[in-house]
Parts: sequence; structure tokens; C-alpha cells
Amino acid sequence: MNCCPYLTECQYFNDQIDKVQRVGATFKSNQLERIQALAKTYRLEFCASKANFCARHMLANEIGIKNVPNDLQPSHVLRAKEMIEKLRSTATPQ
Ligand code: SF4
Repeated sequence: MNCCPYLTECQYFNDQIDKVQRVGATFKSNQLERIQALAKTYRLEFCASKANFCARHMLANEIGIKNVPNDLQPSHVLRAKEMIEKLRSTATPQ
């Protein structure tokens, strides 16, 4: 798979990097850099090739990336599937 189509709009990893920067004062400088680099690497690798396994991607396909809750992590696949099932079961048939 190519890059996730939601890569530019999805805030998840940007938010994580921002959070680390905000609390960065509590880290030693090399720890902060390491965590930021890890988040960026993870974003590039995960979002570039494994988006189909991402809970946020699954839910975004149903409701749009802007409507995906900020606290839904890429690994929350079970939660995403439950939300999708609920949405589909309450959707009005056309
Ligand atoms: S793979 Fe998931 S976390 Fe990455 S950009 Fe797509 S929706 Fe966001």
C-alpha cells in the first residue's frame, strides 16, 4: 500500500510530537530528541505502509478523518471496529 490517504490531515502523530515538545522540559535533551525521532520514524513507517491496519484509517474510511476522535490510537482496532459496527447498525437503509 502507498502512503495513507489521510497522512496530511491526520493529526495523531503530529499531536504526539507536540505533546512531547510541550512536556519536553521534564526530559533530558537527548531523551526528548530520541522520543521525537521515534515518533517521526514510526509515523513514516506505519503510515506509509501499514495504514490498512490502523484503527484511525479504518474509522476514517467510514466517517472521514476529521471526525475521528483524537484519542483513538492507531492500535485501537477493536474500538474502531465496534464504532464502525454501531454506525452501520444505526445507519438508515437507502
Ligand atoms: S495510518 Fe493512521 S495514523 Fe497514520 S496517517 Fe493514516 S490514519 Fe493517521
